[in-house]
Amino acid sequence: MSEIQLQQLVKQYDDVTAVQGMDLEVRDGEFLVLVGPSGCGKSTTLRMIAGLEDITDGTLRIGDSVVNNVPPKDRSIAMVFQNYALYPHMTAAKNMKFGMKSVSDFSTAEIDDRVQEAAETLDITDLLDRKPKELSGGERQRVAIGRALVREPEVFLLDEPLSNLDAKLRVQMRAELLKLHRELATTTIYVTHDQTEAMTLGDRVAVMDDGELQQVAPPQELYDYPTNRFVAGFIGEPSMNVFPVTVRHQNGRFVADHSGFSVTLPTGDGLDGLEGSEVDFGVRPEDITLAQNLPDSTETFQAEVTVREPLGELLLLHCRVGDDELQVKVEPRSQIQPGDTIELGFNEARLHLFEAVSGDALYHSTPQEAPSEAVATE
Ligand code: ADP
Repeated sequence: MSEIQLQQLVKQYDDVTAVQGMDLEVRDGEFLVLVGPSGCGKSTTLRMIAGLEDITDGTLRIGDSVVNNVPPKDRSIAMVFQNYALYPHMTAAKNMKFGMKSVSDFSTAEIDDRVQEAAETLDITDLLDRKPKELSGGERQRVAIGRALVREPEVFLLDEPLSNLDAKLRVQMRAELLKLHRELATTTIYVTHDQTEAMTLGDRVAVMDDGELQQVAPPQELYDYPTNRFVAGFIGEPSMNVFPVTVRHQNGRFVADHSGFSVTLPTGDGLDGLEGSEVDFGVRPEDITLAQNLPDSTETFQAEVTVREPLGELLLLHCRVGDDELQVKVEPRSQIQPGDTIELGFNEARLHLFEAVSGDALYHSTPQEAPSEAVATE
């Protein structure tokens, strides 16, 4: 079994607490993505799991064993780095098998077989005799992944492995990594700052900010039920619109009043006691619609278009609403221009409220049935 368990894991560098009391369970065979802005502690977490950084406090388990003080080579992990970390004077094949003798009991012939097998899986058989400088960035990264595969570790750790590749190649490699994981089902932790990469790759995604874990959930749950304003803003591109509103109670319903609109909230779950409170209202750009496409009964409001961004599959409009700017996704061939005043309404199933100071989620207009973390893991 190769589940990984972090219990109250801490990393302190002199005056910087890079990771603060992190609790996380990665299930056997799972592809878990650790995502967050630069400097939030992702790499430090991964490096502690790899054994490349000492753990200041807390417990790290791989399988049933506490491995806090186990050297990296005895942890049955293989790591892939952003900069490939290949030896420039060695061929791809040599890079892939380098060091294998010291970490395994395999014979030379067995190691050669494994290199061949990994090369076939990654479609780099023709490149095995080349040195890194004779390879493109994408090919180098395949060799680096091949080096990890050859080791048949219980756990793969990948630190921003696609960040140095161009956008098109990144998309292609993403699909290949998914395919590889489907075949091998090796427990994998993948670090990235890119929320799209996180959403597309992760069975579950763990969002970090400022050294702290914010939420762990499957991608769609993270998107639909962010636990706080940070996760709501970090996941999704463009970001969720967030504005200050005041909550009012009227005719048995709750209403959110903003300087540019009022919206009646469809359910009252979790809103008791919030009457009169100033909170943050959140709505994603795709959950705002032109009034002409909404049922007549929908509450609408006016917005003045300030910027028009055609994105091909959709048109992104930046609009002024009351004291705030909002972004709305509309049909791509719409002729709406900056300066136009448009009538908009919200998708009432996808409205969110966050506590103004802490940012904690107070309300999702479609209540969540069973948060995945509440479900027993076996
Ligand atoms: P991320 O991978 O999310 O970009 P890191 O884990 O690399 O973030 O860094 C987390 C924090 O720890 C940052 O504030 C960074 O400056 C700090 N840090 C990382 N490595 C060291 C180090 N060797 N010495 C001191 N501070 C460090």
